[in-house]
Amino acid sequence: MKDIVITDPQILLDLVNELILCTFTFKNIRTMGSRSEAERFHSSGRFKKQSLQKCDIIKKGLLTADQVISILIHLSIIAPVGINSEGEEEYFLPCVLVHAPVSVLASTVAPGYSPLLITFKCGYTPRGVFSCLISSILCSREGQWVLASDKIYRNQVMFHLTEYGHYVLLKNCIKYLQVTITVCHGSTISDVPFPKIQEFLSQHLLIVITKLRYSAHKVGHSFGFHCTLEDHATSDPHIAQCIISIQNPHIKCTIGPSPMTASLTLEQAIWFKVSSKGQDKTNYSNTLRTSFDITHLSMVLRFLTKEHYDATTWQQLGLALGIYQPTLNKIESDARGKTEDCLRVCLSSWLRQEDNVKESGIPNWYTLAKALDSIGQRSIADLAYVKH
Ligand SMILES: [Zn+2]
Repeated sequence: MKDIVITDPQILLDLVNELILCTFTFKNIRTMGSRSEAERFHSSGRFKKQSLQKCDIIKKGLLTADQVISILIHLSIIAPVGINSEGEEEYFLPCVLVHAPVSVLASTVAPGYSPLLITFKCGYTPRGVFSCLISSILCSREGQWVLASDKIYRNQVMFHLTEYGHYVLLKNCIKYLQVTITVCHGSTISDVPFPKIQEFLSQHLLIVITKLRYSAHKVGHSFGFHCTLEDHATSDPHIAQCIISIQNPHIKCTIGPSPMTASLTLEQAIWFKVSSKGQDKTNYSNTLRTSFDITHLSMVLRFLTKEHYDATTWQQLGLALGIYQPTLNKIESDARGKTEDCLRVCLSSWLRQEDNVKESGIPNWYTLAKALDSIGQRSIADLAYVKH
């Protein structure tokens, strides 16, 4: 893959276009081998590698089907979804899917929890985020989120949590994403790992927003709920933001007739490791404390060595992590320029949160991934994101 340089991205756009077109005209099969194959692609966005053979870019020999698949996976345009009933590997291309009919969208919500809403600073779901989120989830190494059925829509996807048996419905409501849960047969709402689901989605949103090169400052996501504040009951349905601070997690609504704040209801607090009155603080702060300290040095070094990080770029990495240049200069002269030593001391400074590290982002997999990404070490960055 590293040997491929794509000078004209148009060929990739053409390929995706060609795939999309064959779902519109699936009755006069162009690319697909058979009608059932074409219909499966049309209804659930799933296709096989050999379906790519008839695409122009591969017929012309510009890229092989394997290369195309690796590139599209890397760009989160497609995701591998496992083996079909005939034992063939399938891939998922969310952007070919059709919108869910209105009747399908109207589902009832089980009592005991409030649907979680994911909002974005820009005020709407940024372009590409929903389909990339689905691909990112399906590509995740945990593999415990799988597509629940063949009924997949462009704006609505049901996942099956294989570990627990529950179902998670993700819906793109244009202005926000909505997360609803269906409890598996024989379980109750208290068996659902709500905070885990929320954290999992949050992690993948961070990955996707970074991958799509959106600025987290402009489009970053946050959580909210349909506003249920009493004084706001008469106005149009709207979203109240959830402010997740350790001291005082609460709901803040600025949209109704009079802006107001309130503590989380039990149905809302269930998504976070915090009680409705904020008493159970220990649990919650533990989840925030996933940051690294100096005891993580050998783990971080092992990771970088294993993934063939180019240690000669240690200064750039240090700067990206928030270490100042004078500190880096001192590290270099102290270590007499020995690259491995420089990297080790530089990472130690990062883990001890020296210089500007606190402001650049406390040490964890995410900040490491972001720094690696910013200095062009993309493939290692992706691996670090996955760990995050
Ligand atoms: Zn309100």
